Amino acid sequence: MRIGSGFDVHAFGPGEFVMLGGVRVAHSRGVVAHSDGDVLLHALCDALLGAAGLGDIGLHFPDSDARWKGAASPHFVTAVLAMLRSRGFSVVNADLTLLAEAPRLAPHRETIRDAVARLLEVPVERVNLKATTTERLGFLGRSEGLAAQAVVLLAEG
Ligand code: MG
Repeated sequence: MRIGSGFDVHAFGPGEFVMLGGVRVAHSRGVVAHSDGDVLLHALCDALLGAAGLGDIGLHFPDSDARWKGAASPHFVTAVLAMLRSRGFSVVNADLTLLAEAPRLAPHRETIRDAVARLLEVPVERVNLKATTTERLGFLGRSEGLAAQAVVLLAEG
């Protein structure tokens, strides 16, 4: 078994939706990002890569590379999963946490959970999705952006 963790932040910017777990969620702001700025999937990719000892998302999909401009983050997850499979790893479970004052996760929780499980090709019970605010403290509390944490467990062989 291998465990990995990931963390990602994006600042809010102009726009009317954010991408969370590959799902478009309506919001009064968008995010500033080279790709689609999906914090949940970026943290998930880093956790997957971390568990496999394969570095981080910036190493494999550098934001200096025009190929990834505006990229849909599900593509990153699929590509990372292929790297893991070729090395004999499979996903046991993933636990994701969204840190933000808004948008609220609750109305979208099951949709996003389903989407992440489909991306990881695991039963939905193996994906957990949590959310917390930071009690209005710090940059997240001031609604300057949003962040996500991910922990995954991989099985070998
Ligand atoms: Mg990111």
